[in-house]
Amino acid sequence: MRIVLLGPPGSGKGTQSQRLIQSHGIPQISTGDLLRAAVAAQTKLGIAAKSVMDAGKLVDDQIVLGMIRERLALPDVAPGFILDGFPRNLSQAAALESLLKQLGQPLDVVVLLQVDNDELVRRIGGRRTCRHCGRVFNVFTSPPAPGETCPKTGGPHDLFQRPDDNEATVADRLKVYDEKTSPLAKFYADRGLLRRIDAEGDLDVVTARLEAVLAAAVKKPAARPVTRRAKKKAPARKKVARKAASKPARKPAKKSAKKSAKKSAKKSARKPVRKAAKKPASRKAPAKARRHR
Ligand code: AMP
Repeated sequence: MRIVLLGPPGSGKGTQSQRLIQSHGIPQISTGDLLRAAVAAQTKLGIAAKSVMDAGKLVDDQIVLGMIRERLALPDVAPGFILDGFPRNLSQAAALESLLKQLGQPLDVVVLLQVDNDELVRRIGGRRTCRHCGRVFNVFTSPPAPGETCPKTGGPHDLFQRPDDNEATVADRLKVYDEKTSPLAKFYADRGLLRRIDAEGDLDVVTARLEAVLAAAVKKPAARPVTRRAKKKAPARKKVARKAASKPARKPAKKSAKKSAKKSAKKSARKPVRKAAKKPASRKAPAKARRHR
């Protein structure tokens, strides 16, 4: 399965990816991890990327795309992959789309992990990584268990905080997400690939929500790009229905309801009035206005 996990920093893409590696047997490809490895190895690319990363800005598209191209050429991605932190803007998304088209391996699903802004800041502030095994913990929500040891050293996990996880940089990273990355939700919704999940609450519950949308995406393959369908048959009604599916359901406009009621009244002598369409299921309103989508 070929999956993109979309969501702001701190939404749990990395944590959930770790779980999907186990349950689906496919690798996680995190551009953040690849870049941090380059920084640690002090490669030319790493040295160039470090200051940009520390400032919470996006690293140059060509650098990141080069890394992705190389990574997707490795044989372990044959059964699928989880992209985490890539794409991060529209030009990366377009480049990924054409690369995967060339490879004959289109995406199956894109899942947007939705988390309230305050919760993101809290999560990022508590995030710590083990220097040796690379496992990510959160000192507030998921600290190492008492007596837990690092599989690499046999001693306690040696935790450190990422340099870009400080308060000032977090604000910049969230701003960059809003400006550059959040438009990808529409990009993938237009292609029938986007699914949204509430990524707050218990970790296992979030994993269950994620697995449920993945299972549904496998059963019901994602729609083909709108443009290709529209060219063939121009099914205007279908297009509207698919678009609506990615947005919260709305009640029918009052005006049109009145209009159709009038029409029905006129026709009632000849034809039986059609049953009113089933009310769309009410959707839970977002918990807070500044929820990241
Ligand atoms: P992450 O671990 O995904 O939060 O990424 C950490 C940092 O690496 C980001 O703040 C960016 O500076 C950089 N980065 C990661 N992925 C990308 C990407 N796809 N495009 C540009 N920069 C990226």
